[in-house]
Amino acid sequence: MLNIHSHKLLSDAVYNIRYGIDDGARIDGEQLFSVGIHPWDAAKVSADESFEHVASLANFIGECGLDKPCGIPIYKQQQIFEQQIAIAERLHKPMIIHCVGMYGRLLELRKQSTSPTWIIHGCYASKEWIREAAKYAVAFSLGMRELQRPRAAEIIRAIPIERLFLETDEGDNIEDVYNLAAEILKTAVFDLETQIAHNFRLILNQI
Ligand SMILES: [Zn+2]
Repeated sequence: MLNIHSHKLLSDAVYNIRYGIDDGARIDGEQLFSVGIHPWDAAKVSADESFEHVASLANFIGECGLDKPCGIPIYKQQQIFEQQIAIAERLHKPMIIHCVGMYGRLLELRKQSTSPTWIIHGCYASKEWIREAAKYAVAFSLGMRELQRPRAAEIIRAIPIERLFLETDEGDNIEDVYNLAAEILKTAVFDLETQIAHNFRLILNQI
């Protein structure tokens, strides 16, 4: 069961490395991984040459993005995010995006960038925003937290099925996430698993 975003080394997961924070992270050649400067770290870490080197080895750049309430000035977060967007364009890598309260700005940046798909992890945007964003190279990932919130059903139904991903983020059990998503979508878990595996191949084929 593909897990698009995990902070733990789990099988079938894209393991996320918070650059400058998870410095001890050791990964073998088989492991799918993403590396990014989290907006929470935007005041203390920047996308230097050594970042670009690690990014060149990663499957995705991220998580990175914009987080309105986190306390780091937005101009600073956006500066670090834009450095990573430029690297994703140069290296032609898809991105894993963290976004809290900044969906409008995020879509403006997406429209201006030529990088491959941006996967919005932990997406809890409005259904209108999801439909608009889906006109561009954007995919969407949900975890247990989003699937248990009140608008879960309307969000998952607004996402085009070929742009849907699931994740554990800080959690452990991707099976529970697939089970709940399948229940909300009234589909079989196996069909959802097959669809998401297909979605993932589409993303990797862009690289
Ligand atoms: Zn995360």
